[in-house]
Amino acid sequence: PIILAIESSCDETAVAILRGRPGGPAAILASEIASQIELHRVYGGVVPELASRNHSLHLRPLVEQVLEHAGVTVEDIDAYSATSGPGLASSLLVGATAAKAMAAAAGRPFLAINHLEGHLLSPFVGLGEVPPHVALIVSGGHTLLLDVEGPGRYRKLGTTRDDAAGEAFDKVAKMLGLPYPGGPEIEKTAMGGRPTAFDFPRSMLKDRSFDFSFSGLKTAVLYTLTDRHPESGTPRPEDLPDLCASFQQAVIDVLVTKTLKAARHAGRGTIALSGGVSLNSTLRRDFQRACEQAGYRLLTADPGLCTDNAAMIGFAALLRHAEGRSSPLSEPIDPNLPLARP
Ligand code: ATP
Ligand code: FE
Ligand code: MG
Repeated sequence: PIILAIESSCDETAVAILRGRPGGPAAILASEIASQIELHRVYGGVVPELASRNHSLHLRPLVEQVLEHAGVTVEDIDAYSATSGPGLASSLLVGATAAKAMAAAAGRPFLAINHLEGHLLSPFVGLGEVPPHVALIVSGGHTLLLDVEGPGRYRKLGTTRDDAAGEAFDKVAKMLGLPYPGGPEIEKTAMGGRPTAFDFPRSMLKDRSFDFSFSGLKTAVLYTLTDRHPESGTPRPEDLPDLCASFQQAVIDVLVTKTLKAARHAGRGTIALSGGVSLNSTLRRDFQRACEQAGYRLLTADPGLCTDNAAMIGFAALLRHAEGRSSPLSEPIDPNLPLARP
């Protein structure tokens, strides 16, 4: 089957067309993203009203583009899918309404997809199947550890009690005077720094739960800044690399340790990483090393599938479609849509 997918949960408008075949990898025929990062940068974060207006502006041209790139027409599309949550209500509404309208007009099924399920499944697009594993989703709004039995069978093991990992990167970057989004900026700046220069806390490592906490780390960076630079609170440029490298390493140490512990606890031999923070090359390197040492197979998503995109939504829809399932056109969007219960 051929599926058209729309992602508009936050500040990226994305449309993709995928072809699936039973038991085989999915082919991404086309995948386009209109990023609004530049638009929101001056505000230091996403402005919901601006975001939804821009989704409306970009969606139709993007749909036409992917149809052209994929070399298919509307008649070839077997099902339409869109992200139905979690995310910004006004943003979700644009994509979901458009997908429903196209599905209704074409008389094809509609599939509502959880954005986090899209992230979760993104490392498996090239595989086409989803083996049992422990998943770590590290994105701008979520830090989730899950035990995955197979598609649609998710058990939550742990989550963050305060900031998400990506959110911590973004907030610390802002404190350091680096532009939004902070993750890539911190990674770049950390290249020339020493990860041991500052002894930042590794929160909840000894805790028996699989939960995370990153706000203490954020506060520790802030205290270091105001201690050393009481007059301005902003670091001297020569301190930035050490600060970034030490902060980044503290986040990574906690993520690696807890995820491997969760895999051991769940009795899984495979670990999968997804979400924007999983683009971080130091994080990938440290996970790779730890997994090799402990004998786990590590799967990561292709770089283009880590941050928000529609191909991951289309892949989740393909798996759902293969089970013969679809969503009613009355399916609501849900800004707080949960992925799994404990
Ligand atoms: P959610 O999926 O939870 O709603 P989101 O879709 O905004 O959030 P993603 O698009 O998956 O999140 O990822 C964006 C986040 O990833 C941002 O917080 C960004 O700073 C972070 N990020 C991107 N690249 C890197 C990197 N190289 N290192 C660390 N963090 C990164
Ligand atoms: Fe996301
Ligand atoms: Mg984003």
